[in-house]
Amino acid sequence: MNYRRLGKTGLQVSVVGFGGIPIQRIDASSAEKIVNRAIELGINFFDTARGYTDSEEKLGAVLKKNREQMIIATKSMSRYRKGMAEDIDKSLKTMGVDYIDLYQMHNVKDKAAIEQVLDEDGALAALKEAKEKGKIGHIGVTGHIKDVLLEIMQNEEIETVQFPFNPVETEGALKLFEMAEKVDCGVIAMKPMAGGALTNAKLSLRFILEHPVTVAIPGVDVLEQVEENAAVGSVARSLSIPEREELTRIVAKLGARFCRRCEYCLPCQQGIDIPSVFLFDGYYTRYGLEDWAKERYQALGVNPSECLECGECEERCPYNLPIREMLKDAAERLG
Ligand code: SF4
Ligand code: SF4
Repeated sequence: MNYRRLGKTGLQVSVVGFGGIPIQRIDASSAEKIVNRAIELGINFFDTARGYTDSEEKLGAVLKKNREQMIIATKSMSRYRKGMAEDIDKSLKTMGVDYIDLYQMHNVKDKAAIEQVLDEDGALAALKEAKEKGKIGHIGVTGHIKDVLLEIMQNEEIETVQFPFNPVETEGALKLFEMAEKVDCGVIAMKPMAGGALTNAKLSLRFILEHPVTVAIPGVDVLEQVEENAAVGSVARSLSIPEREELTRIVAKLGARFCRRCEYCLPCQQGIDIPSVFLFDGYYTRYGLEDWAKERYQALGVNPSECLECGECEERCPYNLPIREMLKDAAERLG
C-alpha cells in the first residue's frame, strides 16, 4: 500500500481508504471481517459519520482492538457548539475509544452554514475545545459545493477537506486542489465511484490517484471490493493508454445528468424514493438490465406519477438535477 501525507495533520494515510456508508447494510460480524481484511492489506484510513446509523459502532468494534493501525475519521451535521460537543462525545462512546483522529463538519453547503459553524457559538468552537482536551486530533470539513469549501478551508483551523471527486465529477476540483496545496489541507475524495454510477473501481481509483488527492474512500461491503481497491493503492502508476481510452468511453456514456445517490433530495413529501428510481433507471439505460430494473422499480411502492411537482427535492440536490423531469423520463421507461 502507498501512503501520502494528509496535509498539515501530518498523518500518513493509505492512498485508498475505507468509506463507512455501505457497512450499514451488512451484519456486524461481516463488517468486522471486511474491516480486518482492509487493515491486513495496509488500509489505515477509515471514514464514517454520526449520521451513518450503526457504521461508527461497527468500525468501533474493530478500532478498539487495532487502535494503532487505524486512523479514524468521523463527522457530524451539528452546526452549533453544544450539538457538536455532544456529538463528539457520542462518537467517542459509540466507537469505544478515548480519541478520534479526525472530526469533520459534515456537508457544510452554503454561506449560512459557514457563518453558523464559525460563530463563537458554532461547531468549530466545540471542535477546537475537543482538540485542546485531546478528544480529537484534527479538524476537517466535508461538502459538495466547491465554492463553499474554497471559502471555509481558508480558516486556519481546517486541516482536511472532503468532497466528491471521480472521473465524472471533476468540476471545480482544480481550484480546490490549488487551495489545499496553498493552505496545506489534506484532500479526501469521497464518492470515488460516483455514488455507484461507475462500476470499474480500478479505473476510477487510478484516475483519482493521478491527482493531488491524499486518500480516496470507496465504500465497501464485500471482501473482494476491499481487495480490489487495495491492489490499486499498492501500485503507484497512472492509467495506461488502453485504460484511459476505456475510461473515456465510460464517462462519455454516462454524461452529466445522473444521480450520485447522495440522498440530499430526501425526504420527498410523497415518499418517492428518488435515488432508487434513478438507480434502476441507470440499470435500464446504461447496463441493459431492462427486466431487472422494471421489476425493482415496480416494487418500490410509491410511483413517481404521485409527484406533486413541489420542487423541494430540486432545491436540495447539490448537483442541480432536474429531478421532476428525470422522474418523468424514468417513469416512461420503467412504468
Ligand atoms: S417535486 Fe415531486 S419528487 Fe420532488 S419532493 Fe416534490 S413531490 Fe417529491
Ligand atoms: S437526485 Fe440529486 S440529491 Fe437526490 S440522490 Fe440524486 S444526486 Fe443526490
